[in-house]
Amino acid sequence: DCKRKEDELGEKRTRDGCRSKKVKMMMDADSLIKKLCVWCRQPSGQWELGTIQSTSGEEVSVSLSNGNVIKVARSEFVPANPKIFEGVDDLMKLGYLNEPSVLHNIKLRYSQDMIYTKAGRVLIAVNPFKDLQIFGNDHVSAYRQKLTNSPHVFAVAEEAFTEMMRDEANQSIIISGESGSGKTETAKIVMQYLAALGGSNRDIEDKILQTNHVLEAFGNAKTSRNENSSRFGKLMEIHFSTMGKIYGAKVQTFLLEKSRVVQLASSERSYHIFYQLCAGSSFGLKERLNLRAASYYKYLNQSECLMIDGIDDAKKFHQLMKALDIVQICKEDRELIFTVLAAILWLGNISFKVADSENHIEVLDDEAVTSAARLMGCSTQALKAALCNQKIQSEKDTNAKKLILQQAIHTRDKIATFMYENLFNWIVDQVNKSLQVGKKHTGKSINILDINGFESFQKNSFEQFCINYANERLQQHLIRHLFKYEQEDYESDGIEWTRIDFKDNQECLNLFEKKSHSLLSLLDEESNLPKASDLTFANKLKQHLGTNPCFKGERGRAFSVRHYEGEVLYDTNGFLEKNRDTMASDSIQFLASCKCELLPLFSKTFYQSLKCSNSLSTGALDSQEQSVCQKFKGQLFNLMNQLECTTPHFIRSIRPNTKQLPDIYDEGLVLQQLKCSGILEVVRISRAGYPTRMTHQEFCTRYGFLLSETNKSQDPLSTSTDSLELKRKQVLQGTVVLQKYFRGYQARSYFQELKSGVAT
Ligand code: ADP
Ligand code: MG
Repeated sequence: DCKRKEDELGEKRTRDGCRSKKVKMMMDADSLIKKLCVWCRQPSGQWELGTIQSTSGEEVSVSLSNGNVIKVARSEFVPANPKIFEGVDDLMKLGYLNEPSVLHNIKLRYSQDMIYTKAGRVLIAVNPFKDLQIFGNDHVSAYRQKLTNSPHVFAVAEEAFTEMMRDEANQSIIISGESGSGKTETAKIVMQYLAALGGSNRDIEDKILQTNHVLEAFGNAKTSRNENSSRFGKLMEIHFSTMGKIYGAKVQTFLLEKSRVVQLASSERSYHIFYQLCAGSSFGLKERLNLRAASYYKYLNQSECLMIDGIDDAKKFHQLMKALDIVQICKEDRELIFTVLAAILWLGNISFKVADSENHIEVLDDEAVTSAARLMGCSTQALKAALCNQKIQSEKDTNAKKLILQQAIHTRDKIATFMYENLFNWIVDQVNKSLQVGKKHTGKSINILDINGFESFQKNSFEQFCINYANERLQQHLIRHLFKYEQEDYESDGIEWTRIDFKDNQECLNLFEKKSHSLLSLLDEESNLPKASDLTFANKLKQHLGTNPCFKGERGRAFSVRHYEGEVLYDTNGFLEKNRDTMASDSIQFLASCKCELLPLFSKTFYQSLKCSNSLSTGALDSQEQSVCQKFKGQLFNLMNQLECTTPHFIRSIRPNTKQLPDIYDEGLVLQQLKCSGILEVVRISRAGYPTRMTHQEFCTRYGFLLSETNKSQDPLSTSTDSLELKRKQVLQGTVVLQKYFRGYQARSYFQELKSGVAT
């Protein structure tokens, strides 16, 4: 029967679709394309919605919603979705998955305060910058009892929890996005949900939630993009018993931006804790630390930004004290922490004067140096020597070489950042001790990763280099999992399919981390050469990597990397120094001799890590210390190993505007993030498979009208698709022309629908 109808229609299907033999049919199809809603790319790059009026050759006339009629080339428009797809909660439900349709959908939802949208297995979260009242206990129980399935962070947390219990498998929730997009808030929302349902042990839940306060005080700062920006990456493991009760947790941190302690960009602040301490400490503590107002300290006042609108630092300090109490950092330890912080502030106020004709300097005798020395627990003399001299070890004895101003400032700032970084790590260790309630971990865990997303600025430095490398790794993790799931879905539905070729980013990862002649190996090699400079490093890259398709040498000290989401231009200025991050052994020895308990502890930790890295290094005797990128690579490697053993859930957070204000949606900004976050790639991958997914019930609701009257009375679910064949053939004719216009966009998915015997 089917064959006969096909003959009637005079149509011959080819593998890729169909080809009409009759001109009449072309005309039918032509009339089909008319009135079609399309997105047209404007010269500005933005997309405008319009309706096709007429077609002529390679061009069509489109009437835009503002009434204008414009001529558009075939390559400059893509089909828009019919109205029934407006604002769907999962992008995969869109008939057309093109860029403007995705953008329009997210924008429409955002304007209705629906900040969450799914993109298949990824949750897109657009920062509302306002309190939406969707995180209360009523919402928690709605998701717990599965009364709703609209996209939400709670839904992701619920899914992770359910899968952990059901499959007895560890889970991970991987949150990424730009600074200010809402990652940390999202991570906290996940923790809130898990704490609520992991019930029973109030003590540990409280500790987990308070850990955030502690980490934020010491690791967050006001930046131009976010008033509470985390300056470190974080992995929070929440451990559950086999009964699904929380009984412990663990935090791991990555890449703290320690330079912030000594150097600030204008209108940014250092870590919150400094301002909180200055504003909120008791009279007694102030006396003991000889503490002044924040404005008195050079490390804080250099950026001319001391306050954050609407934030009371003193009040925050009191909250922090409670949080420290809850995570069991005792009074004595707190006193030590504050002593180190005050010492750092006073170090920053130490100034120097030129002492001889060769520009050697000496420390100005003032309150700064005496206060710093007293707090650190050393003599003023010892501190001065540590800042002004460098010991030179010769064969026979040690001599002191005097430093010039720049070197002394460098030494001082190095000591301050070293103290802060170690203090931060020490606090993380203490928090972890209190989160692990002694017992050995036997149950399963949910890992929450809050790490900076891909960054591409006009000028990109070592920090972007590291974070983008990490994002390449995470992206590979995402892509591989999407495919794995895709494959499993097809297999479980018994659908025949051919493997989809997808753009893996292995090549780019190789460029970074191959054993020899990779970005990281060459960086380390160059960092170990005393005479090397950022320029020699750049030249070395060009020499060895010039032929790598992911690499491009640029003028001077610059180079570009083709990351999965686009090309990024890096300036090697400062790469070697930041990667070496050496701490003079003099300074370490000096800290070891201090009486303030934490300082010798920090230098001991440093020596231990040295020993450890020496035993690891392959005979490179001069590389006494592990470089920053080596350390990070190791951390990342462990992180990926840990994540590999989990079922992943992905959340991509999006910053809708740069003003940090509600109800403003900057299309260009969102598009750029969607591209960078790999969402469009995720969409592309899913489109390469079978993008249209619906249950039988949904299918019948949507296409049941195509059934003849007699068939309608029957159960639509029992109707075979054969009865839709005639309708299908008629629609098929139109697709010849549609395919011509939309080739490369949607033809494939369109035919996929047709194959199931349906078309709108
Ligand atoms: P990121 O960690 O990505 O840099 P944050 O999580 O710190 O970003 O969020 C930045 C700011 O955005 C927060 O301080 C808060 O004001 C706002 N914000 C983020 N997520 C939400 C949310 N779900 N609801 C309301 N405001 C939010
Ligand atoms: Mg953050």
